[in-house]
Amino acid sequence: MSGQLVVVGASVAATALIERIRELGNREPITVVDSDPDAPYDRPPVSKHYLVEADSSDIAVDWSDLDVSLVRAHATGVDPSAKLLLIEEAGMSRSIPFENLVIATGAIPARLPIEPPDTLVLRSADDARRLRMHTEGGRSVIIIGAGAIGVELASSLAARGCTATLVDRAAGPLERLLAGHLSAETTEWLESAGVRCVWKADIAAIEHAGDGWTVELRGEETLRADLLVSAVGARPAVAWLQGSGLLTDGALIADEAGRVVVEDQPRGEVFAIGDVVTRRHDDGSLQRTESWAAARQHATQLAEDLCGAQRGTAPKPYFWTEVAGRMVQVVGSLSPDDELVLETANPERRSALYRAAGAGEDEAFIGVNAQPRIARILMGA
Ligand SMILES: Cc1cc2nc3c(=O)[nH]c(=O)nc-3n(C[C@H](O)[C@H](O)[C@H](O)COP(=O)(O)OP(=O)(O)OC[C@H]3O[C@@H](n4cnc5c(N)ncnc54)[C@H](O)[C@@H]3O)c2cc1C
Repeated sequence: MSGQLVVVGASVAATALIERIRELGNREPITVVDSDPDAPYDRPPVSKHYLVEADSSDIAVDWSDLDVSLVRAHATGVDPSAKLLLIEEAGMSRSIPFENLVIATGAIPARLPIEPPDTLVLRSADDARRLRMHTEGGRSVIIIGAGAIGVELASSLAARGCTATLVDRAAGPLERLLAGHLSAETTEWLESAGVRCVWKADIAAIEHAGDGWTVELRGEETLRADLLVSAVGARPAVAWLQGSGLLTDGALIADEAGRVVVEDQPRGEVFAIGDVVTRRHDDGSLQRTESWAAARQHATQLAEDLCGAQRGTAPKPYFWTEVAGRMVQVVGSLSPDDELVLETANPERRSALYRAAGAGEDEAFIGVNAQPRIARILMGA
């Protein structure tokens, strides 16, 4: 890699990219643009300990040795042919020239069409601080969406003394992440922690009136609470790329090497990594991930390619989440058709390791408080 590298987004993917570039001995100038005044920071603790304790060391990442020029600005567009990134900084527009551009703008919360505009969400450190402020002293909170963020939020709010109600149209929590497995167990852990779970919910209306919220469910009682948080998923942060010629049907698509492609053609020296990108695999399949480990993997591989270094071995897919004080880790790709086999269990430690045996050759594992076993599986030991 030579010349100016510009990265948009100063989060998980950017951190892994720059760390690896510097580890490989490359000292070329790197400019990073991010509009979040707290960036850079680590995102997973935002819905976990940081939400409960407000300890900034939970999310801190240290870029002091990475020799990066951080610009606090909003990226507004790219001119790939002129190799210019357009930004808006303190109300002024300007452009930054690049030799290589890496787009790492992550994702933003998805919204239900029926959500009132002032519905709270959780993505950034600032969102977590706002939620903490609103739930001071224990309040009642309805959380819509029982994916990882909704489940973690419900767990954290229950730990803060709030009355949390978790609502989803699915038949249980973490349905996508755990492919429908352990639904009864995870529901029981949440309920034991004081979270009320409402599954198979069919939401007719959400209203904010006075100082309270109501969620009307078809065929069920209407839910009421002081606060409502929407956690119905995330979508790629690509709106700023409209007009750049880099999007395909609204998606930012990159090949296996992370190079942005449009109509099968690479678009100059423009790359995309992390939650923002839809990866097109060599077999033509498309995949978008929302995981800390996947964002770091995209970044590490791109850093090695840009520096002309040999690529390390790609790790197995990995995700972790926390459910009512239990660490749940997934290695490999789960399918609803897998048969889940309990390998080991220690009720005293509330730990268990399950192997998911499916039709394919690849095994997947779910660990509950089973960090040492999962670490060995990840290391291939
Ligand atoms: C609350 C929460 C908890 C999570 N917990 C887990 C977990 O337990 N385990 C796990 O595996 N994964 C977890 N994840 C997912 C994981 O954090 C993400 O996959 C990861 O953060 C993706 O990193 P990224 O760098 O691609 O994007 P992001 O972390 O989304 O960062 C994107 C950055 O780009 C900036 N940006 C966006 N648009 C612009 C623009 N136009 N101009 C300038 N800057 C811009 C944003 O301000 C942001 O700083 C969690 C995510 C959240 C939100």
